[in-house]
Amino acid sequence: MKRNNKLPGKTIERLSQYRRSLLLCLAQEKTHIFSHEIAALLHITPVQVRRDIMLIGYTGTLRQGYDIRELIDLIGEIIDSQDGLNVAVIGLGNLGRAILTYLSGKRTKLRIAAAFDINPEKVDKVYGGVPCYPLDRLQEILEKEEVSIGILTVPATETAGVANTLVNCGIKGILNYTPKPINVPPHVYLQEYDMITSLEKVAYFVKRNQQPG
Ligand code: ATP
Repeated sequence: MKRNNKLPGKTIERLSQYRRSLLLCLAQEKTHIFSHEIAALLHITPVQVRRDIMLIGYTGTLRQGYDIRELIDLIGEIIDSQDGLNVAVIGLGNLGRAILTYLSGKRTKLRIAAAFDINPEKVDKVYGGVPCYPLDRLQEILEKEEVSIGILTVPATETAGVANTLVNCGIKGILNYTPKPINVPPHVYLQEYDMITSLEKVAYFVKRNQQPG
């Protein structure tokens, strides 16, 4: 089976969405699915679905479409690390706590292993089964827990400093939830998600659609 080595980020996003939809289909005891059915579930084109699935080296049959179980397993082989990856949340304010609670136990291959904060009232407590450590133990705990991904939910003024510390501690990937963009060296994978920008974008288009003419 020929498989493309490095897939584009957008393809990975769609593969993650395909897997979630396929898991729901499997739960409804469906065994096979056509590209146009996956496309309809995700509001994209069947051509896009076929292209993505071809990129990962999988083909269905004309009569039955794709075998759902096989496709889920294959997407898992591509997205997941065999032994799973450990994640840390840095900054346990409202957003950090919400993310920690939301993600805990959701993905078998991604484990929230630790949280960090500078507020003495928050450290040395356990949130949703995850211990919160003081920031000055970052290096020690990241090594001990073999954490490779950091989720940043500190205030914007702290973003750059904390991101640098994470990089110096050997982090491999950062999901930046703060409104402040960061720079990381090429060996660190960075994904930024600024909720306020997204919300303001929606607000702008809602306002425009409300305006006459
Ligand atoms: P709360 O009122 O519970 O602190 P919040 O969402 O208003 O919540 P923010 O000011 O956004 O809090 O800060 C988010 C979290 O980041 C807080 O828990 C804060 O203590 C923590 N924090 C601030 N600076 C740092 C830092 N340099 N390193 C780690 N955590 C930090």
